[in-house]
Amino acid sequence: MPRIEMYMGYGCPYCASAKHLLASKGVSWEEINIHDLPDRRDEMIRRSGRMTIPQIFIDGVHVGGSDDLQALDTAGRLDPMLGLGKKGPHREHHKVVILGSGAAGLTAAIYAARADLAPLVIEGGQPGGQLTITTDVENYPGFPDGVQGPEMMDLFRKQAARFGTTFLAGEITRVDFSRRPLTVILGEGELITADAVIVASGASAKLLGIESEKRLMGHGVSACATCDGFFFRGQEVFIVGGGDTAMEEALFLTKFATKVTVVHRRDTLRASRIMQERAFASEKIVFLWDSAVEEILGTPDGGVTGVRIRNVKTGEVTEHATQGVFIAIGHQPNTTIFKGVLDMDEVGYLRVRPGTTHTNVEGVFACGDAMDARYRQAVTAAGSGCMSAIDAERWLAEHHA
Ligand SMILES: Cc1cc2nc3c(=O)[nH]c(=O)nc-3n(C[C@H](O)[C@H](O)[C@H](O)COP(=O)(O)OP(=O)(O)OC[C@H]3O[C@@H](n4cnc5c(N)ncnc54)[C@H](O)[C@@H]3O)c2cc1C
Repeated sequence: MPRIEMYMGYGCPYCASAKHLLASKGVSWEEINIHDLPDRRDEMIRRSGRMTIPQIFIDGVHVGGSDDLQALDTAGRLDPMLGLGKKGPHREHHKVVILGSGAAGLTAAIYAARADLAPLVIEGGQPGGQLTITTDVENYPGFPDGVQGPEMMDLFRKQAARFGTTFLAGEITRVDFSRRPLTVILGEGELITADAVIVASGASAKLLGIESEKRLMGHGVSACATCDGFFFRGQEVFIVGGGDTAMEEALFLTKFATKVTVVHRRDTLRASRIMQERAFASEKIVFLWDSAVEEILGTPDGGVTGVRIRNVKTGEVTEHATQGVFIAIGHQPNTTIFKGVLDMDEVGYLRVRPGTTHTNVEGVFACGDAMDARYRQAVTAAGSGCMSAIDAERWLAEHHA
């Protein structure tokens, strides 16, 4: 068995994802909590050259973070590194397969499991979904004092498991819905077949798409304040965006940073009134209006040193010193693998028959943020997850008796 070292910390959803993936492989690993051990944090930065957690080493070889681990698994390269054998091409058949383990997928699983359909949930690269990268959830009914996002998703998962849901780590890379049974392809080629499929693949953080953002990701650029805010204690940071996510992350960053500058393309925020009021009330948050990040300055070795910002109205370009840049500009539905198969709008949101979760393919249902461009909330995702399980159950009863 190889030696696996994971540098991790408290409240880090990506660490939880990485651990979950390793646990699903049946391997054990050594955890080094850098929040408790500052010397080991310095060691992690020295060994990996990165300032994000987790950082994983297998037999002394730097693998990277949770996304890198997931990418290795998707490419079929992780199992050999872990000394595990290759699986056969057809793994198993299920009545209902649910793609995604966020609020929508897990609610669909609770309903399908209680209907005796023994669903399989394929968890994807972000087990628990987007709520695992947030802190307080204050608007989900039933939690009068609020609840931490990761804790809430843990409760959803336990409830789904209690009624007989099984879970599989990994990501679906292709689908074949042109014949029966429906086929989804896990990672590099394992086939899973199903009578009905529920797509609950949610949405992912959008990035700016500039070269320096990619180059410096993990070296001072981050798309998750909850994970990486800790590294910027006592420093001044920038955050890009003007919606609820940006305001929530800006407020979270004030716990660590001495100053948080919000860079926003317009002169008003898109965030809800309550989030705007909270952000405006913070003495640590300042705003750069009508502005866009043109380039993030720095090197992977030395980290981020500054940002170059263009005023979109005047064209004036200014440079600002900073060690951290957080990107919080919204989300893209995770539906690329369904292009040409399932009907979707121009952004990629899946289309369903109005008032139902039926897609254009018989036996395939869609729920949650993957099909909802308008509400995109945990409670609406859970609601449509429930609808999709009921739709699937009725469809199965009609077609498979
Ligand atoms: C920072 C932040 C804070 C938020 N705060 C709140 C809040 O306070 N209240 C609220 O109501 N909402 C909040 N939201 C919105 C809420 O998180 C989403 O509406 C909700 O998570 C949507 O659930 P979902 O299940 O549709 O998708 P997601 O949560 O996005 O889950 C998608 C799932 O699909 C999986 N997946 C993706 N692609 C594949 C694939 N190819 N194969 C298999 N699986 C795949 C992923 O791994 C993931 O498990 C917040 C969102 C963010 C980002």
